[in-house]
Amino acid sequence: MLARLARNGAALRNALLDVLFPPRCVVCRQRGTWLCASCVAQFERIVPPICERCGRPLHRTTCPYCARAPLHIEGTRAVAFFDGALRQAIHAFKYLHRTELADYFGTMLADYLLTFPLSVDTIIAVPLHPERERARGYNQAALLANALGARTHLPVWNDALVRTRATRSQTELNAEERYANVHDAFAASPRVRGARVLLIDDVCTTGATMQACGAALYAQGAQTVWGLTLARSR
Ligand SMILES: [Zn+2]
Ligand SMILES: [Zn+2]
Repeated sequence: MLARLARNGAALRNALLDVLFPPRCVVCRQRGTWLCASCVAQFERIVPPICERCGRPLHRTTCPYCARAPLHIEGTRAVAFFDGALRQAIHAFKYLHRTELADYFGTMLADYLLTFPLSVDTIIAVPLHPERERARGYNQAALLANALGARTHLPVWNDALVRTRATRSQTELNAEERYANVHDAFAASPRVRGARVLLIDDVCTTGATMQACGAALYAQGAQTVWGLTLARSR
């Protein structure tokens, strides 16, 4: 109840502010847009050569990350590095209720898929635990998935995957702790049988969350699982 009041309060506040103060870039404050072209141009895009699996830039023939701990999904991809202007924009999107940014980010994800296609037929967002989603008022990954679906005409099945237990924020955890933290934290619906799923999230660090989601999807018979995020850490 309090969360809803706070949320409606925040939405109302944003709407009023939009009238009083028209859109300004969340990064550099330039007027007329929530994310300006010169800030977008600063995003450091991740382009080939990349590792086929984890999507990290590849400097030699075999990827040292995947040699050490191979992913158990087809692979993960990210549009750009989680740095500078993009980091700031994602912060505004997740924590400052700047949900308008889903439009900008949805276009970036769709452009990425157009340039670097993946064999997928269904989009699913990485779910938040219901309590966290209530507190925030939205799941930022679901907004991205919907925006991407609208631009690619791929079906979006965000309710086919749920987070079954609350997990700690991954931010303060090392790679090993991240895997333990999200292990068995997700459950998928039998509806995903045979689907070639594209998992969507805002940021990927170790891929632990994508892997845990992938395990739940494969357990219900998904054919393949790819992950795509806006950003990834270096
Ligand atoms: Zn800007
Ligand atoms: Zn790799």
